[in-house]
Amino acid sequence: MTKAQNPLSDPKNRSQETTLVHGGTVRSQHGETSEALFLNSGFVYPDSASAERRFSNQEPGYIYSRFSNPTVEMFQQRLALLEGAEAARGLATGMAAVTTALMSQVRAGDHVVASRALFGGCLYVIQDYLPRWGVETTLVDGRDPANFEAAMRQNTKAVFIETPTNPTLELVDIAAVAAIAHAHGAKLIVDNVFATPVLQSPLALGADLVCYSATKHIDGQGRVLGGAILGSKELINGDIHTFIRQTGPSMSPFNAWVLLKGIETLPLRVKAATETATRIAEFLGNHPNIERVIYPHHKDHPQLELAKRQMKGGSTLVAFEVKGGQEAAYRVADALAIVVISNNLGDAKSIITHPRTTTHQRFTEEQRAEMGIRPNLLRLSVGLESTDDLIADLAYGLEQA
Ligand SMILES: *Cc1c(COP(=O)(O)O)cnc(C)c1O
Repeated sequence: MTKAQNPLSDPKNRSQETTLVHGGTVRSQHGETSEALFLNSGFVYPDSASAERRFSNQEPGYIYSRFSNPTVEMFQQRLALLEGAEAARGLATGMAAVTTALMSQVRAGDHVVASRALFGGCLYVIQDYLPRWGVETTLVDGRDPANFEAAMRQNTKAVFIETPTNPTLELVDIAAVAAIAHAHGAKLIVDNVFATPVLQSPLALGADLVCYSATKHIDGQGRVLGGAILGSKELINGDIHTFIRQTGPSMSPFNAWVLLKGIETLPLRVKAATETATRIAEFLGNHPNIERVIYPHHKDHPQLELAKRQMKGGSTLVAFEVKGGQEAAYRVADALAIVVISNNLGDAKSIITHPRTTTHQRFTEEQRAEMGIRPNLLRLSVGLESTDDLIADLAYGLEQA
């Protein structure tokens, strides 16, 4: 029996952990252990005829790193294996991924429906930029699929959702919205940053495209920006590839190389942080200085049934409302010794955010009320520190509330 006959030579017979360490690796003639960093913009051809064949797609091979690079390709292959997607593309940032996914699917005269509780940048692209280019948009309360059905029009080409939402961790029923979008001939695009590919699989639930900010859990160590789009070969190698090739929101090979190493430990990190977040939500739910805890797998979440059906875990984020208003929320955050104040998430370091005065500052009080962002709301991104230390830190902070 040879290695080629070993069933484990076929990636299909490997489990997720194995795939994330080895998947997509292509070694150069030097046989390096870790993936090589091809930090180059262009490629040379053996002769003119070969260059001609590559440009006409008759010969495989790299042409220019704006749209193809060996290190970026390894990142794409590995992420596609994790997501169970036919194909993937890496992008410069999460916002480049979301913008590319949307722009590649619409033209002037089309219509887009989106849930209104979105990451700030996504909301800006949908609410401000798309209309400037002649694309009408309708924002709906994403918690009830019937709202999407009511908003669909003849010219609706795309539905865009984020679930769980930032920062109030509300859920959108991906399978139900996918069925509605498809019944109207529209594509469903899901921003899956908060759930991560480890806890939620939008493509398996019917989504056409999934977007990531790789800056968050995929790097997970606060080093680089990155983004990704995954879906069918037809969409990714077609509309998405052409948009990236012609407009250039491309991923840097250096960032792809950092992110490749991030994927190797992604399930370990997400599972550990999710376990800690589950315990923290439990602790906060029982604390006398807390008005409300919001966590998708906590017994008090209003969409618990959907959360259990759609997500393998409650995520690495916990939101909570402190008794005593904004001043009390500030006192809690300012008293923490381990948890840092920042607006990033999905990091090894635990991070606390006061959404009203930072990420959602530009909205009116009325808009924030619609999104459920109250003055006493804090969003906690749980990291990899000891669970006991984090709970002790929060207990100390809450005593100061
Ligand atoms: C951070 C984030 C983005 C944007 O990603 P960047 O890498 O910062 O551009 C988009 N959507 C969600 C849900 C995010 O959390």
